[in-house]
Amino acid sequence: MFDIDANELGCECVKQHGSDWVCDVCMSRAKECAMKLIDEFLAKEFKVPKDEIEINFSGNRGYHVHVTSGYERVRGYARKEIADYVNGNGIEYDNIFVEDKVRRKVVGPKPSDGGWKGRIATMFIHQLKNRTLERLGITKATARKFYDRTDAADKIEGGNWEWVHITDKKKFFATLFEAVKKEKGCFVDEGVTFDTSKLIRMPDSIHGKTGLLAQHIPINDLAKYDWTRKAVIFNANIVELHVVKSQRFTLMGKTFGPYEGQLVGLPEYAAVYLLCKKAAILPENVQKAEPAPQAPV
Ligand SMILES: [Zn+2]
Repeated sequence: MFDIDANELGCECVKQHGSDWVCDVCMSRAKECAMKLIDEFLAKEFKVPKDEIEINFSGNRGYHVHVTSGYERVRGYARKEIADYVNGNGIEYDNIFVEDKVRRKVVGPKPSDGGWKGRIATMFIHQLKNRTLERLGITKATARKFYDRTDAADKIEGGNWEWVHITDKKKFFATLFEAVKKEKGCFVDEGVTFDTSKLIRMPDSIHGKTGLLAQHIPINDLAKYDWTRKAVIFNANIVELHVVKSQRFTLMGKTFGPYEGQLVGLPEYAAVYLLCKKAAILPENVQKAEPAPQAPV
């Protein structure tokens, strides 16, 4: 079981809206990570048949991906290794780029390699062809050396990385790998995969922090799945409530907020969402504010 949480994907937006909220950016990224995990890792590398993979919207900030058979006997440590692998953690780039100091050669990954090696080479060649190597954290000076060689992409196709002089190879490989990991890693919560005693929310139950339905998503529907519509179960009757503080959010195609310290009429589903987040209270529960003490004359 893999847990992908929109707050844990390194998205900049989380700094703005805080960890109690989500937005289209981080939730789209969570879905991308779930799709990457299923297509590029579980199906392609682990050869898990797609009918043995289940995916659920968590009801709050992300997705749960379950492998339903074949891995029951895999124990804690091996589970952690699997989670580390899909996240790209603990991979020794010294083993990916092998430097032969005597012959002054560097043999590195090629696109036809499996796993992370193939990912690194494919991504590098892609950025090289677009002349955007700087996006991988590579310095302008080094990038220029690659651009100047018209046969650069062909060389790397063959795993041949030694023909461009790189001043600090260790730093170059480390930077490159971190950039590929950020783009291609799945950002699963390693603790959840590792610990088989963790309680996982059942699909078709209502999440207490959102009032949204945790639900099963047919694997072929994931790409077009829209939690802001599909997971909404309350109706659109207008309810008045006092919003203490709310970020902007979108449900059923409507964008609400931000609100702060105000009485608002909202569809029931949006009202429940805010009440569950403890961002609003019912008007009858608003304590009458104490009159401000008279200022001394
Ligand atoms: Zn966000």
